[in-house]
This record gives sequence, C-alpha cells and structure tokens, in this order.
Amino acid sequence: MKLLVVATALDVGGRFDELMNAAFAAHAASRGQAAEIHLLDAEGAVTDIAAQAAGVQRVYRFNPAMVNNSDALLDAVAQACAQIKPSCVMWMGDVAGHQHAPRLAVRAKAAYVSGCCGFETTASGGLAFVRPIYGGKALEVLESNAAMTVLTVKPKSFSNQERQPVATQTVVEVLNVVIQPSSAAITRVSVDKPEEQTGPTLEDAQVIVSGGRGLGSAEGFGALRELAAQLNGAVGASRAAVDAGWISAKSQVGQTGTTVAPNLYIAIGISGAVQHLAGMSSARHIVAINKDDEAPIFGVADVGVVADYREIVPALLAELAERSA
Ligand SMILES: Cc1cc2nc3c(=O)[nH]c(=O)nc-3n(C[C@H](O)[C@H](O)[C@H](O)COP(=O)(O)OP(=O)(O)OC[C@H]3O[C@@H](n4cnc5c(N)ncnc54)[C@H](O)[C@@H]3O)c2cc1C
Repeated sequence: MKLLVVATALDVGGRFDELMNAAFAAHAASRGQAAEIHLLDAEGAVTDIAAQAAGVQRVYRFNPAMVNNSDALLDAVAQACAQIKPSCVMWMGDVAGHQHAPRLAVRAKAAYVSGCCGFETTASGGLAFVRPIYGGKALEVLESNAAMTVLTVKPKSFSNQERQPVATQTVVEVLNVVIQPSSAAITRVSVDKPEEQTGPTLEDAQVIVSGGRGLGSAEGFGALRELAAQLNGAVGASRAAVDAGWISAKSQVGQTGTTVAPNLYIAIGISGAVQHLAGMSSARHIVAINKDDEAPIFGVADVGVVADYREIVPALLAELAERSA
C-alpha cells in the first residue's frame, strides 16, 4: 500500500508537519499492508529532505518544475498519481487541498474523503478513514474499496503524532510531466492584496478573541482587536459576523471556516451554534461573554460571563493595562 503525501508551497510554509504526522499515523494504522510513505514535492518547497522528509521512502519532484498555476498543478499531480499508483493520496485540508483534492479525485476516478481526522485498521488490516460529521457531534469511519482514495486532512488533528520512520534512506526522483497548453495558458491576472498581518495567525494563535453577531457592528471588533493584541492573540469570528461584512472571511471559525485549538478561546457575542462549536470546541480553555444566560456557548465554556460585552471588554482592557503598567 502506497501513501502519497502531496505538499504544496502553502502546506510547507504552514501545515506540512501536520500533514506528515497524518501520513505516519496512516502508516501506523495500515500495519497489515506494509505501507510505504511517498512525498510529492509539488512546488519545490521541501528544501531540506533530511529534516522535512525524514523516514519516507521517496520524494518526487516535477520536470518541468511547477508554475504557480492551479490547473497546471492538477495536471501534474494527476500524472504523478498515474505513474506512482498510490492507494491513498493525502492533501492538507487548507486552501490548496480544498481546491485541488476533490478535482484530483474526479479526474482519477478515485474515492474522496474530506476532513479526515484519524485512521483505523480495517478487519483485513487495511486503512479506514475517520472524519467528523453533524458538525463534529459524531465521527464516521469510512472504508474505501476504490483503487485510489484521495483525502484531505483536517487541520489540528495530527499535531503530536509520534513518527516511526518507514525508511532509513529517502530517494529523490524526478517525474517527467506534460502540462496541457490549455492549463499552462491560464494566468492569474489579479492578485488580492493580503491584509496586513499583525500578531499570530488564527491557525497558530494560542489565544483567540472571537466576535459574533452580538457585537452589533464592524466597530465592535475594534475592542476585540485591542484585546487580542494585549494577549498576543488573533481575532476570530462567527459566520454571522463574517456574513454581515464586519470582518473578513478568513477570520471565520467553525465548520465552514477554520478549525482552531488554542490554549484560550474567548467567544464574545457568539451564541454557540453547533457549526461554530465544530471549529473551536477543542480549545483548552473557553471563556464566553454573552448577555443571554441560556446561550448554548455556556454549555462548552469553562468560564461564562453573562453580561453586555460593551461593559466587560473595556473592563478587561483596563485590567490588562493596569497589570502591564
Ligand atoms: C452549513 C452551515 C455551515 C455553517 N458554518 C458556520 C461556521 O463555520 N462558523 C459559524 O460561526 N457559523 C456557521 N454557521 C452558522 C451558524 O449556524 C450560526 O448561524 C452562527 O454561528 C451564528 O453566529 P453568532 O453566534 O455570531 O450569531 P447569533 O446566533 O445571532 O448569536 C449572537 C449572540 O450574541 C449575544 N449578544 C447580543 N448582544 C450582545 C451583547 N451586547 N453582549 C454580549 N452578547 C450579546 C446574543 O445573546 C446571542 O447569543 C453555519 C451554518 C450552516 C447552515
């Protein structure tokens, strides 16, 4: 059984370690099948094979080297899969993974599993895929009888995996691929100016201060940004706040946003809908500020404050300012 990890520049800069942890977890679970781990360095971002790809059998690179073009990347990965014939292709469940993995599965007539958060061993010693359903309320275990299964790995699910090296030496191989002129011809004509990032990202922050519809306006996020800055944290949001246009979509936490697992999550003016909880209930400590004492968020909170946030947040800021003075 061959596990093929697809790494893009985006993964390697961010979640590559988690992706590799997932591959080693899959290897451990497929013990009956003598699994191999192969790594496809799709955009030449793995700069240190010894450190980044330690313990894997093979690292593949492309000839020609990849351009930063989604369709060309997909062309090349599909051809790589035809040559390598993996039984399982693993892509990080981030922007690149969500964009490419389902399309790869369709092209390769493969099975597709999104948001995989664990692996189990089937009765025959094969690999089964675990993923959350019903907004994280239950887990389902899927077995695939397709020749190839493409999956995306749910972020923050494989952070502390113990790695058992699968190979002592890693072989680097170059794969010749042909990019269709129609794919290579697609060029990006506009680039979104990235918002200026101050402080940690939502994914990496140990403290997240998140706001919801209860803030009442975009201005409400001003105080939350201040609080996040004081705590060296990031600002998150519920979908209702994002849909209202008060904050950018990349701040959304939840089922259709980012999954986070910080040390401290402060939910302010957020009711605690199941889709929001799906993205943050693994936080180590949860503090909820809500003026409705029956808000479901209090069901998961370690500390609950029943109050108007407009009174509590300034008081918190004043207290922090006093302590740091
Ligand atoms: C398929 C699907 C996917 C979804 N994915 C997501 C997702 O990824 N993330 C997500 O968040 N949601 C998601 N949702 C939406 C989700 O169901 C809820 O609608 C949303 O989370 C509600 O956001 P909210 O808690 O900010 O708003 P509300 O539910 O309106 O809650 C606002 C809260 O603010 C409190 N409040 C009001 N004023 C104040 C004040 N002055 N001080 C303190 N508290 C106050 C109220 O008591 C209330 O509890 C999804 C829904 C669907 C159907």
